[in-house]
Amino acid sequence: MPILRRLLLASARSAKLGSLAERSRLVRPVVDRFVAGSSEADAVHTTGRLLSSGLNVTLDFLGEDADSAEQTAATVAAYCSVINALGRATAGGRAEVSVKLSALGQALPRDGDKIALENARQICEAAAAADTTVTLDMEDHTTTDRTLGTLQDLRADFPWVGVALQAYLTRTAGDCRDLSGPGSRVRLCKGAYAEPTSVAYQGNAVNDSYRSCLEILLSGEGYPMIATHDPKMISAARELIVRQNRTPDSYEFQMLLGIRPEEQRALVGSGNRVRIYVPYGGQWYAYFMRRLAERPANLTFFLRALASG
Ligand code: FAD
Repeated sequence: MPILRRLLLASARSAKLGSLAERSRLVRPVVDRFVAGSSEADAVHTTGRLLSSGLNVTLDFLGEDADSAEQTAATVAAYCSVINALGRATAGGRAEVSVKLSALGQALPRDGDKIALENARQICEAAAAADTTVTLDMEDHTTTDRTLGTLQDLRADFPWVGVALQAYLTRTAGDCRDLSGPGSRVRLCKGAYAEPTSVAYQGNAVNDSYRSCLEILLSGEGYPMIATHDPKMISAARELIVRQNRTPDSYEFQMLLGIRPEEQRALVGSGNRVRIYVPYGGQWYAYFMRRLAERPANLTFFLRALASG
């Protein structure tokens, strides 16, 4: 992994840098390209704009690594509130939510998994009442087994709960097979964390794995959510969609807010369902640093905006 990327991903984990950056007004205009805003009203506004242009949405209330039960309760309240605020827009899952289990308490030293499960249940209940869905984000590889365990528990009551799988992990083809049954919602992404070679492919091998995982999911019976901005992965998916006779309601593409909007519209224009991942809230630092790490051009854009003041 290039040094710059490693450095940016390491900085993404610094709480000190995070609170400094989040308080600075200087960077806000740049962050706004990737984050809907800091309030629920901002999230609802951006969701309305995207829905009216034919896109679907998954909302992420920013924050990870909660270190107290109070903090997790505030996150649950924020999710339930935004689901209610979206009201009819969420019906049928057009606007759903994405949740990081670390924000719900997974990393708490005592009973983390139990607390995260109970918190996730409350969000799922609010989503069920609004006729929408929830997807669990995937975090670093030390959490994969526990996240999949929580997914299984949630699916017993809420079979529509989705999960992200990361093609860079060597285990993921197996996880795709396990999760390719009827109704199973799986978001396939490349993976955004700095992972060691003992568990993760590096370089081009990640793309090879992404293609293999796509094939497993698209030839299965579940609902694949193809999360990538990479033109090569998108065309591989489109070929497989045709080959597997997939109907447009049996899969979707997903992209992040602010990245390749013209491609988002082009995919909708050619009859595909497209969902935009929309983060909002004050704790944008870690999310934003992972986006900088993915693409040096984003970093140049960021530094230029800082320099111009
Ligand atoms: P990359 O390998 O980053 O880029 C490949 C090519 O895509 C580039 O060469 C370029 O042609 C094009 N491209 C990429 N970015 C841009 C850009 N800004 N402008 C123009 N072209 C661009 N990761 C997780 O670990 N866990 C998650 O739960 C998770 N959820 C996600 C949800 C969604 C909806 C998406 C889209 C991503 C998610 N990710 C998640 C992040 C993901 O793992 C990748 O880090 C991220 O999507 C970058 O990978 P990529 O497939 O877009 O391709």
